[in-house]
Amino acid sequence: MPDRDLPTILVNITQELDALPIEQRGPVADYIPALARVSPEHFGLAVVLADGSVHVAGDANVPFSIQSVSKVFMLTMALQKHGDDVWKRVGREPSGSAFNSIVQLETEHGIPRNPFINAGAIVVSDMVLNGGDPRSAIGDVLRFVRDLAGDETISIDNEVANSEAVTGFRNTALANYMKSFGNMGREVEGALKLYFHQCALSLTCRQLALAGRYLMLDGQHPTSGKAIVDVAVARRINALMLLCGHYDGSGEFAYRVGIPGKSGVGGGILAIVPGKASIAVWSPGLNARGNSLLGTKALEMLAEETGWSVFMPGAGL
Ligand code: GLN
Repeated sequence: MPDRDLPTILVNITQELDALPIEQRGPVADYIPALARVSPEHFGLAVVLADGSVHVAGDANVPFSIQSVSKVFMLTMALQKHGDDVWKRVGREPSGSAFNSIVQLETEHGIPRNPFINAGAIVVSDMVLNGGDPRSAIGDVLRFVRDLAGDETISIDNEVANSEAVTGFRNTALANYMKSFGNMGREVEGALKLYFHQCALSLTCRQLALAGRYLMLDGQHPTSGKAIVDVAVARRINALMLLCGHYDGSGEFAYRVGIPGKSGVGGGILAIVPGKASIAVWSPGLNARGNSLLGTKALEMLAEETGWSVFMPGAGL
């Protein structure tokens, strides 16, 4: 019989995973110094329920680099701006390839498989930029995420953004390759600048779970009630998160956890139980696919304990 008291469940999961030794936590991303120096010992968990209550455990108030979790917010902005035209430039299929892979782009004529791999996210950033000024687009993204979370203190870590740019040879290659197929705007530099800055958004688990509320609430802004996106669009963002949110580990995540989720190489995952919960977890150590090792484990345990699953919508807390 599961313990159905959510605060206790969160504390139990955190205590069990926090006790694991370094060797069982996975290596942290090391492609830039700012991520390489993050301690693998961090673990944070935050759950916001549909009634607005917030439950946290561990390092839920320590900011981290959300990296590819930002791709969810950027897709939302692109859909707000361009509607279904987004799907002329990016697909909706799982890639089965690494997050930064270039191989499918050749045979698929520069149209990335989905908005959550790097190539797809760079096209999405290009759509959000929409030929405009990268600096003001970065400001728009920051304002959007702050508004979703209801927290004006959220910021972008400029050290991370600058290192992303300095080491971003693959992302630059992806952008140029797509440009050669006519699937990027005039200047690839602007879209890349926006992409590197969105990756450098720095949020705590609490802030990230708050920012994800609209996806639990059928696309509605949690306080104003206005539509961030239509209910049909929110449902589809969740569908894409379930099928594509963990790159070539998406099937495994769906199998083990069974709710939509989007990971980032900083070790964060945003997971949504439609109608019930917005969840953020952070543990910087990664598995072989670049997804948080203990973060995935934590969500698997949480789903098991609460009964949350999109495949049994009536079940659970
Ligand atoms: N900044 C990283 C990159 O573009 C983001 C990738 C990720 O989080 N998986 O390579």
